[in-house]
Parts: sequence; C-alpha cells; structure tokens
Amino acid sequence: MSTISAEEQHPQKVFGWAAKDPSGILSPFKFSRRATGENDITMDILYCGVCHSDLHTIKNEWGTADYPIVPGHEIVGIVTEVGSKVKKFKVGDKAGVGCIVGSCGSCDSCSRDLENYCPKMIITYNAIDHDGTKVYGGFSNKLVVNEHFGVNLPENLPLDAAAPLLCAGITVYSPMKYYGLCKPGMHLGVVGLGGLGHVAVKFAKAFGMKVTVISTSISKKKEAIEQLGADEFLISKDPEQMQAAMATLDGIIDTVAAPHPLYPLLCLLKNDGKLVIVGLGGAEKPVELPLFPLLMGRKLVGGSGIGGMKETQEMMDFAGKHNITADIEVIPMDYINTAMERLVKGDVKYRFVIDVANTLKSS
Ligand code: NAP
Ligand code: ZN
Ligand code: ZN
Repeated sequence: MSTISAEEQHPQKVFGWAAKDPSGILSPFKFSRRATGENDITMDILYCGVCHSDLHTIKNEWGTADYPIVPGHEIVGIVTEVGSKVKKFKVGDKAGVGCIVGSCGSCDSCSRDLENYCPKMIITYNAIDHDGTKVYGGFSNKLVVNEHFGVNLPENLPLDAAAPLLCAGITVYSPMKYYGLCKPGMHLGVVGLGGLGHVAVKFAKAFGMKVTVISTSISKKKEAIEQLGADEFLISKDPEQMQAAMATLDGIIDTVAAPHPLYPLLCLLKNDGKLVIVGLGGAEKPVELPLFPLLMGRKLVGGSGIGGMKETQEMMDFAGKHNITADIEVIPMDYINTAMERLVKGDVKYRFVIDVANTLKSS
C-alpha cells in the first residue's frame, strides 16, 4: 500500500466528496487520478446518480469499507482527453461509466463479456486499481477510465436522467434478459419501487410485459400506475392482497434494499416461476429460503449482479430507442448528506442525481 497521499499519487488533480468513517457523512476531499493512458479516456463529470449501494458502502453495511470512499457509479460526462489507441470516443463526446472500471480481460467471464463476474473485477470505488492505488467514484469532478468501461450515450436521452441507467438500468435489464423475463405477455413482479425498481417497470413495459409492483408504500400506487405504466400494485404487508395474487407471476425482480421474507414472494409465482434477487439489503447475513413454496411448483431463486460492458451498451441503446430514463430529483453536491438520509427512509422518486458540474466546488 502506497504511503503517498491520495492528492499526490497521480498527476491529474481531482476534487470530490468522500465518506471518511462509518457515519457515512460525506465531505470535500482532494485526490488525484492517473494521466490519460493510451487506452484511457478522461472525462469531466457532469452528473452522478446516487445508488443505494453507495449508501450501504459508505455506512460499511457490508463490512468492506476502506475509507476514505468517494462513492458514485452512475457517472455521465464529456470526454476531455483520449489516449492514442482509443477508438470508441473522441474529445467532446458524451460518455457514461457505471460500476466497473477494470477486469482481468482474459478469464472465462471476461471472454464471455461478463466482466461483472470476473474474479478480478475492479469496481468503481472502494477498490484497488491495477497499479495498486485506490479508485474513487463519481462524486467528483473528473474521471479517467479505460475506454472499455465507457458507455456511449444515445443522443436523445437527457444526461441527468440517463445517468442512473449505468447501474440501476443494467442491474435490472441483465437478469430480465438472462432469465428470459422479457417476453411480451409475461407477467412480471417488481418488488421495491426505488431506483432499480422503477426502471425495471419501464423496461418490462417496453418488453411488452404485464407488471405488478409489490411495495411497502401505498403512497407510490397512483404514480406507479399512471406514470410508470404498472398494471397492478400490491402492498406486501397486506396479507389479503398477497393471498389474492398467489400463483399469478411468471417472474419477480426483487430490488428491496433491506432484509425481507422471501416466502410471500415465492407464493406469488406460478409453477416454473423465477424469483431473481438483485437487492442487497441485509446482504451481510444469510436469508431464509422456505422450501415448500420453492419445490411445489418447480420454482427457481436466482441472483444477478450489474452486467457486462457489452450488455450495458445494449441496454443503453435499448433505452435510447424506447426513450427510457430514470425519474430523478436533481440535487446540488452539498445536499448529499440530506439526500442519503432521505434514501434511508425511501423518500425519493425515484433517483437522486447530483448536478456535479454546476455545484461541486473545489474548496
Ligand atoms: P432504493 O432506491 O432505496 O430502493 C429500494 C426500495 O426497496 C425502496 O424504494 C423500497 O420500495 C424498498 N425498501 C426499502 N427499505 C425497505 C424495507 N425496510 N422493507 C421493505 N422494502 C424496503 O435502492 P436502489 O438504489 O434501487 O437499490 C436497491 C437494492 O439493490 C440495494 O440493496 C442496492 O445495494 C442493490 N443493488 C444491487 C445491484 C446488483 O448488482 N445486484 C446493483 C445496484 C443496487 P417500496 O417503497 O416500494 O417498498
Ligand atoms: Zn448501484
Ligand atoms: Zn476476468
């Protein structure tokens, strides 16, 4: 581990906001990034989404925090410099960066465009780069990344509302494709109507599916149906509603950011139904898997973690074609600690996005 300060390590001087201890409180932080390498792009960050994983990480809920942590992995910006071998981007292009900034490039997962399952995957923050220095995320003014981990953004999507697609979007799109929960006429349940959940509803509708939202928040019902296009809305804490909907769903995408029982969700599935878990609330502890509702009906419980770069580009292009973006609340950088408190309470419709370019100040 290097003893050189984060500010002195690299030539490109950067500023951002970091969490410095498990309180998770974010405050200004100066650091540096490497010079633009031959396969790298450097970008000025314009917007960065706020994912619940940022919150889990800065509060050390998964026990993996290595402070200081500059979170943020829903990053969009404008390319300011490109290395000599860069092909996908030129100076002035829009670019997006999600949860991954490195992988080994040669393992079985990498060779199948599944960098997200590479054992040596480098996530965008709270991780160590190939050169042994720490990586920092998008709550900052500038990013340097290998172009392989950059995503081209469709012209028609507004940058602020497209930013959450880089994590929330791919995290729900990938399992819908992989588990075959993307066919017209299928009935999908989406559990937890937050950042991931509301984008899942939009993708499912674009795939031509019927969608039932399963939520703890009655206050989200009207909007879910009238604005997001959901067909039905179930309150997960209402046993009568849940009972009436038993055996109606072909699949479920579970995005809940807190521990919760799987039994009622398995009961909602038809025979051969699939419960796909992407939420990581309470991930530090094992969950209970009730066997009767699983076996009686040949059901499947699966998981999924973000997505590979090829599929992330495919998702972004699909979003461009179908005009899918997140519903966002744009915030200034210095509102972030309040935003995090509101995220704990589920008080956001449906994604905070930081206006980095206009509100992140160097001192
Ligand atoms: P979010 O915006 O906070 O949404 C999560 C939703 O879960 C909330 O809106 C709420 O929906 C529900 N919820 C929250 N607390 C709950 C509780 N105590 N009981 C029941 N439901 C609760 O979070 P997000 O950014 O969408 O992320 C969701 C989860 O996915 C997080 O755990 C995050 O770390 C994880 N994640 C995983 C991946 C992956 O690769 N698999 C990628 C990104 C994020 P209702 O109000 O509708 O109940
Ligand atoms: Zn995320
Ligand atoms: Zn690999």
